[in-house]
Amino acid sequence: MLLDHTGLGYDSGFRSEVSAGRGRAKHTPRLQPGSIVIRNRSRGSQRATQSVRAIAALLLLPACVLGPVASWAQSAEAAFRWPDGKRAAVSLSFDDARPSQVDTGLAVLARWGARATFYVVPVHVEAKLSGWKRLVAAGHEIGNHSVRHPCTGNFAWSRDAALEDYTLERMRQELLEGNRRLEQLLDITPVTFAYPCGQTFIGRGRATQSYVPLVAELFLAGRGWLDETPNDPVFHDPAQVSGMSMDGMDFPDVKALVENAREAGQWLVLAGHEIGHSGPQTTRIEMLESLVPFLQDPSNRIWFETVEAVARHLRRHRNDQPRD
Ligand SMILES: [Zn+2]
Repeated sequence: MLLDHTGLGYDSGFRSEVSAGRGRAKHTPRLQPGSIVIRNRSRGSQRATQSVRAIAALLLLPACVLGPVASWAQSAEAAFRWPDGKRAAVSLSFDDARPSQVDTGLAVLARWGARATFYVVPVHVEAKLSGWKRLVAAGHEIGNHSVRHPCTGNFAWSRDAALEDYTLERMRQELLEGNRRLEQLLDITPVTFAYPCGQTFIGRGRATQSYVPLVAELFLAGRGWLDETPNDPVFHDPAQVSGMSMDGMDFPDVKALVENAREAGQWLVLAGHEIGHSGPQTTRIEMLESLVPFLQDPSNRIWFETVEAVARHLRRHRNDQPRD
């Protein structure tokens, strides 16, 4: 069944969101000590010599300036423990307030008393308000997913709310408006956010800016989409919590993601859209029927909680760490 997301006109985008670029570089080159190549030596220019001196001065920084930061990070990592002897954390999240989330997903999760995080667009909550109120009453987290679901205008359905045409102030007003409307509709205040399409930029070319700092200011955590690794509990940036897709996946493949995260002691945030037996951008009921009991089995030592609960735990841990 095709969904009618009236008022926003991005129903086709729901299906193609999976292929969206995320507006952030995956591989950022880093300056590594010992890896400097002096290419201008044969020219003997004074400028090159000055550059080398400047880089050499920078390389001295770790000993005198970065030392306390490095030792804080090491002590934080050494001190970190998941609660109750758990070895990893897993959160389930679903985006957009798709109708199948309340029509189908609510009952599926209720079978195990499992709690998930739902990143919702207010207009879709209004369309099934009583269902969303039941979902809140069941203890699920409601997060902000903007008002107009802005993504790159390369999606035709997003042309009227194209990130390329946004300003930071417009985004700030929209995110605040999203919280206000959800407070009115559901009597909750969202504290975490999911970037529509996983994209974190606004503007174009030289005027492009990141709205990650805005999310860092307004929310406890901001989740991405189609990311490739879970989160290191100490190192990760709460404003860019990675979100890995579970749409269309079978249990063995999702179980492998969970086991890899447990091996590394990470926080895995899974993200999906529809909840059903089949179809595009659909987290499969059969997969959830195996995954949820697996996550709840104490012998698997997984902390299965909402994004908000895990993010609060990790913030407390950060605040508890001495920084000198
Ligand atoms: Zn979305």
